[in-house]
Amino acid sequence: MKIHDIYAAPFIQEMCEVTKNLWRNGWDERNGGNISYLLDEEEVRLYLDLEPVVKEKELDFEVKELANKIFLVSASGSYFKNICQNPAKNLAIVRVTEDGKRYKVLWGLEDGGMPTSEFASHLKCHGVRLAQDPNHRVILHCHSIAISAMTFVHELDEKKFTRSLWEMITECLIVFPDGVALLPWMVAGTVELGLASAQKMKNTRVVIWPHHGIMGAGQSMDDAFGLVETVEKAADIYMRVISVPGGFKQKITSDQLWDLAERFDVTPKAGILDNRNKATR
Ligand SMILES: [Zn+2]
Repeated sequence: MKIHDIYAAPFIQEMCEVTKNLWRNGWDERNGGNISYLLDEEEVRLYLDLEPVVKEKELDFEVKELANKIFLVSASGSYFKNICQNPAKNLAIVRVTEDGKRYKVLWGLEDGGMPTSEFASHLKCHGVRLAQDPNHRVILHCHSIAISAMTFVHELDEKKFTRSLWEMITECLIVFPDGVALLPWMVAGTVELGLASAQKMKNTRVVIWPHHGIMGAGQSMDDAFGLVETVEKAADIYMRVISVPGGFKQKITSDQLWDLAERFDVTPKAGILDNRNKATR
């Protein structure tokens, strides 16, 4: 079978495009951010001989549910600004071993690096999301600006935080009806942060790390990026409004959000909106 040029692979091109856009948006300064993409083995075979192994590494925790799955992942220390210029240095294609305790690097990391230090956390999140949605593919972490800013001024209660975001743009409720999860501030790159994020991803596709950034999950690059983009824009509007003297004069009401949910057939996460005021219908 002829193996095609890996740089022509759609998954490499998508990764280049999304990392460039994340950097352009100012959400991945320096080596901030990391991303991983569950690939289809048959598609990867068109571009890569899957037998040779560059190196193997032990995972911080077992992910038996992802045995033999193949991921494209950003390298530890890689600058999203530069991924496009040299994918073979800044990315890796890896396969989780049969026992779910290790992974094998099949391609990339040409300068001898390793996948992102958050990779084990990403894998745990992939496992959780796949259990919820068989079409899940992408975990993306970035340092989006307004979301981080909002965690300095808004109460860190995930129900109140979700409601504030839903109230900022009419379409938020449709894009993330499961709301957002919030963790307490935690040290970056730790097993604890990874496990806590994965735990939250059982009920939502968005986990906010206060004073740090956001983790989003999606069925494609566009889906994950679009989700983070929507949450970030809602936070941006929130920050702009509270920066105006006098702040909010009005918001989208609970009844309006219920109307929206009905029209677009989504179920808002329970316990966030006020009960519908039937008298006004
Ligand atoms: Zn980070």
